[in-house]
Amino acid sequence: MDCKLLGIPLQVGTGRRGCEMGPSAYRTAGLAEALEELGHSVSDLGDIKPEPLNVPDHPNSVLKYLQENAGWIAGLTQAAYEMSADGFPIFMGGDHMLAAGTVAGISKRAKEEGREQFVLWLDAHTDFHTLDSSDSGNLHGTPVAYYTGQKGFEGYFPELEAPVSPANVCMIGIRSVDPAERKAIRETDITVYDMRLVDEYGVSALLKRFLTKVKEADGKLHVSLDVDFLDPSIAPAVGTTVPGGATFREAHLIMEMLHDSGLVTSLDLVELNPFLDERGRTAHMMVDLTASLFGRNVMDRPTVERFPL
Ligand code: MG
Ligand code: MG
Repeated sequence: MDCKLLGIPLQVGTGRRGCEMGPSAYRTAGLAEALEELGHSVSDLGDIKPEPLNVPDHPNSVLKYLQENAGWIAGLTQAAYEMSADGFPIFMGGDHMLAAGTVAGISKRAKEEGREQFVLWLDAHTDFHTLDSSDSGNLHGTPVAYYTGQKGFEGYFPELEAPVSPANVCMIGIRSVDPAERKAIRETDITVYDMRLVDEYGVSALLKRFLTKVKEADGKLHVSLDVDFLDPSIAPAVGTTVPGGATFREAHLIMEMLHDSGLVTSLDLVELNPFLDERGRTAHMMVDLTASLFGRNVMDRPTVERFPL
């Protein structure tokens, strides 16, 4: 695989400072080296830093850094579109707002190629607020609503060229949803596998269902991994910790199954806040999970025969 790394020092989508150090932490924790050890070629494109867009103030006065975030989306959409021409883009965040741009860019590419774009959203949160419904004002709570083409972003966020069909979005790990998001998401075809379903059925059964769907459509699959998908006990370096997250084994099993599927075509690593980390522990955890997605086995045998698609 030809991996392309892009550093996205974005933190204006979150309420806490520190995410801008994320790309540097991934480099320090040896992300490129881990991929090279697995036989992949890696090019690091450096960091991106788009300028703000001149958009009007929104009636919802709590929204934070609207112009700056709009600029990031525009810049990232273009970067992701260009990076997805060939090779495997890995977006090193930065807060989760970045997915508004990365998904918009890669889905534009998929549309041009005549293929369906799918998204696996690994997160404690659904990030399905609109500009109207956000009550924290932190725009990292909005990317899924934006890239699936929900109403209310027109004139503020860049025009979306290729919305992802809500039916092609699968969320796993969800355990913190605001009432407005819950109501809005119920009206879509987004698949939400919350932690209760993970407990009841196990991640493998849930993921297999989704991967089968992606494979049948010959789709492209983007994985968006929020640090807070993981339990805070194994990944403390995130500003939005929620107890009861995915365990080490569940997370690695997902990554190994994704590798075995051969379906993943791009990846976001988001919300790592190195300022909150413990001696680089969370950064290393995220690098190890990425390595599993790219072929490293943590468990004692490959899952391919036990979980055929
Ligand atoms: Mg998130
Ligand atoms: Mg989250």
